[in-house]
Amino acid sequence: MGKRMDRLCFPHGKAKALTLSYDDGVVQDRRLVGILNRYGLKCTFNIGSGVLGTTGEMRVNGSAVDVSKVAPEEVPALYEGHEVAGHGLWHSALDSVGTPAAMYEIIEDRRRLEQLTGRMVRSFAYPFGVYSEEVKEMLRLAGYESARTVMSAGDFGIPRDFLAWNPTCHHNDPDLDGLIRKFCGPAPLHAGPQLFMLWGHAYEFDERDNWDIIEKFASHVSGFSEEIWFATNGQIADYVSAYRSLRYSADASRILNLSGTDVYLESAGAVYRIPGGSEAEIPDPGI
Ligand SMILES: [Zn+2]
Repeated sequence: MGKRMDRLCFPHGKAKALTLSYDDGVVQDRRLVGILNRYGLKCTFNIGSGVLGTTGEMRVNGSAVDVSKVAPEEVPALYEGHEVAGHGLWHSALDSVGTPAAMYEIIEDRRRLEQLTGRMVRSFAYPFGVYSEEVKEMLRLAGYESARTVMSAGDFGIPRDFLAWNPTCHHNDPDLDGLIRKFCGPAPLHAGPQLFMLWGHAYEFDERDNWDIIEKFASHVSGFSEEIWFATNGQIADYVSAYRSLRYSADASRILNLSGTDVYLESAGAVYRIPGGSEAEIPDPGI
């Protein structure tokens, strides 16, 4: 075989994927979901199930911001079409409450969310963004496969380790416009697949009275739906994991996809689909 470089493509051969990740299950999620649904975007909502239904407000510059959480019974219908993910039962800082309490918060939150939604919960966001290697390992053992941090990466890379998934940026990032223009523009030569993750809390739109930011963002990116795959955090982690699990023959002419999902890849300028559960042949580029 000749020289070759294979690269991940997102479903249907797309080179870009975009996802959102919003925390705490606050009442402002109702308005956010409405905007996202209007533009066909997908979000993962990270919820500490122990605090669902609680009311509260936060004082910001002398005015009150509602930080009440939606009621548990509202969760399945409100987040339909999106992903419900774990965020720790009581939203404790998991690296500092002691291992037994952290383990309990992680697994009990997952159990309650699964019971509430009737779906398996496999994504997570670290409360306060804090974690340690031990917390990460607890998540893995508890059945979580991705976990978002609050460290903005400012780029469009695909995480090596999905349990330490640094988002692209927060919606209040002063460079949000620049980043989204760069992401939607023509990809640089040899750029490879690009992934954009926006994160935040929906109450922050009330806090700064800037709902126009997310409206503009959603409206802009939805114009590129031919090129961008809109998916939840979990769908992206699953897809990349399926790609990374492809088996190659010694001469790379055959590729086996053991997953249940079709996987797309680019090889020598052509895009190939490897159907879930089957083997495909890739021609030798002859270089
Ligand atoms: Zn939170």
